[in-house]
Amino acid sequence: MDAAGAPSPRGLLLSDYVLSMPRPDFPIPGPPRPEIALAGRSNVGKSSLLNLLVGRKALARVSATPGKTRALNVFTWGERCYLVDIPGYGWSRAGKADRAAWRRLVVGYVRERPTLAGLLWLLDIRRDPSPDDRAFGTLLQERRLPVLPVLTKADQIGRSHRAERVAAIAQVLGCAPDEMVVTSTRTREGQEALREAVLALVD
Ligand code: GDP
Repeated sequence: MDAAGAPSPRGLLLSDYVLSMPRPDFPIPGPPRPEIALAGRSNVGKSSLLNLLVGRKALARVSATPGKTRALNVFTWGERCYLVDIPGYGWSRAGKADRAAWRRLVVGYVRERPTLAGLLWLLDIRRDPSPDDRAFGTLLQERRLPVLPVLTKADQIGRSHRAERVAAIAQVLGCAPDEMVVTSTRTREGQEALREAVLALVD
């Protein structure tokens, strides 16, 4: 929706669940399309952001259903690209075997998937990047993948602290503050900027 309440053209790109990839080299049937992945620590707001991006209320609920929390869940977004929901990292109750399985799946996907064109890296605007975030950042650098840092839950901090938080996170990531998109799924802040930035990754 724009400020006048009219549906935006980007919002009309249809999105649907396609399949869950249990392995990083799992094929997606049909014509090849670039894949844009979404990643971040557990609870960062990834499912909510996916819904904000595509303009659907509960699309990403599928990612939380049993058996799908450990897979790469694939969604269409129009005919331009696939959106790939990477399971969240840093889940403190995860055991050793779970962590090893996560690594095989995610590291394999990020390092080697030929159709991976870009990645939205979600970070909670209230927190400094954690050791898990930094480790994930190292993996991204190895591949030299186009990465869009997306700051989530912006409604949780006051306007006066915002620039400070954005600058602090940008410094850790080694990027400019205006290279990141600030979002809130509560207020829908950043929805259009996010869509534009994702389409720019695809082109
Ligand atoms: P995921 O585990 O990364 O997929 O995160 P979810 O999308 O399930 O969100 C985790 C929690 O954060 C839920 O309680 C959401 O309601 C909440 N959340 C997600 N996005 C926002 C946001 O923009 N603002 C606020 N205040 N809460 C959010």
